[in-house]
Amino acid sequence: MKKLIIIAILLAVTTFVNAQKYVFLFIGDGMGQSDVDLYEAYLAEKDGKEGFVQSNISKIPLLSMCTTHCKNRRITDSGAAGSAIACGQKFNVGEIAYSETGNQPKSIAKVAKEKGMKVGIISTAPMNHATPASFYANQPTRKNYYQIGLQLAESNFDFFGGGGLLKQTGNKKDEKDLMTIYQESGYLTFTSLKAIASMKSHNNKVIFTNETLDRDASIPYKIDREDAPNNSLAEIVETAIIHLDNPKGFFMMVEGGKIDYAAHDNDAGSIIGEMEDFDNAIAEAYKFYLQHKNETMIIITADHETGGVSLGIADNGYESDFGILSKQKMSMSKFGTIIKKQTKNEDNVSLKEYTDLASKYFMGIEMDFSADEQAILNEAYAAINAKSNRAKDEAKSKYNGNNPMAYAFCQIMNRRASVGFTTNAHTCAKVPVYAVGTTTPILDNTEIFGVIKSFIEK
Ligand SMILES: [Zn+2]
Repeated sequence: MKKLIIIAILLAVTTFVNAQKYVFLFIGDGMGQSDVDLYEAYLAEKDGKEGFVQSNISKIPLLSMCTTHCKNRRITDSGAAGSAIACGQKFNVGEIAYSETGNQPKSIAKVAKEKGMKVGIISTAPMNHATPASFYANQPTRKNYYQIGLQLAESNFDFFGGGGLLKQTGNKKDEKDLMTIYQESGYLTFTSLKAIASMKSHNNKVIFTNETLDRDASIPYKIDREDAPNNSLAEIVETAIIHLDNPKGFFMMVEGGKIDYAAHDNDAGSIIGEMEDFDNAIAEAYKFYLQHKNETMIIITADHETGGVSLGIADNGYESDFGILSKQKMSMSKFGTIIKKQTKNEDNVSLKEYTDLASKYFMGIEMDFSADEQAILNEAYAAINAKSNRAKDEAKSKYNGNNPMAYAFCQIMNRRASVGFTTNAHTCAKVPVYAVGTTTPILDNTEIFGVIKSFIEK
């Protein structure tokens, strides 16, 4: 009899343990398969190796390629695509998990929370940016940053981490500070990960904001992080695991938010930095998976592809030198601000001066330019000196709103590496889905919701 009771208790305990579920959903914003390939080719070439070096991403099996189109357009945005992933249905461009009629769609993060799991939402982009917002907010437009921020407080999720907040005091700067609202709703707010990790109890809800933020409230690009107090995405994930681990399990969404930003800028060097940051964060989840194999699901995907990245360009034939991108000293956008600052009080900045600035701050490579490269520089030099409104408008559109000289030097870096771009916007190329914890092929982004739901309800 005693034996039977012990067996019964053991069975109950094992069932309880098996009921634990851990879900990591990684979203590389704008990350096409070609970005993963670029990163792996770069890892090989920078060390003089043949072929590709396997990233942490592709240590996880490639499950399928998935479509990303939204309700009203084939080429989607982060609002509609993030919402489709979060809620399992299609939305219109710019919407955040929004329904015009009736009940608002419930995200997989909310489903997990209702099951008693802890929930973490992490991004290098601002916390009320489209992708993270899709998991806790319902808004007709992603631009309702303040309203999205208010819904963050209502979510009751356990860990928010990464960038800061857009429109923190509303569009007119006359609303109550969102951070104050969070503190009043019971959130403890931090700029130190150590302080979170070393808390005696992890029952409190926390918000972590990186100490240094770009003007757009995002965490600086990895390539720009050297000179400021910063945390990597991996360190944030590591801390989130400590904070969220509990007997009922957790759901964690981790966004590499600025792969997309770098791709919009056609800045291959910065894409690689963001890929590295994202990839290292995945290593943290994979470590956790190895310790909790049967209870853990990791899904890695993208909301859409950005930039139409190609590995190889017509002008270089079959040559590539992706490793050269390790020489790039900072992001193109940061170099643009440096150019602006350094030439602020000068009327006629010569091309030579721009070239010297590029040599000092940006390129890190041979500065003897080929005729084609010189033509790129001449064109940018004409654009930056544009006088008529029409010429200024043309320059703005050609250089996607960036400093034309910074953009031109970045194009030369891309050319030398043989990285091509077809657009400064998104594409509707299918994106990869890598996964452990499921073998069901995911062919459209709306299927991710159901796969995670059946895993946590199993
Ligand atoms: Zn984008």
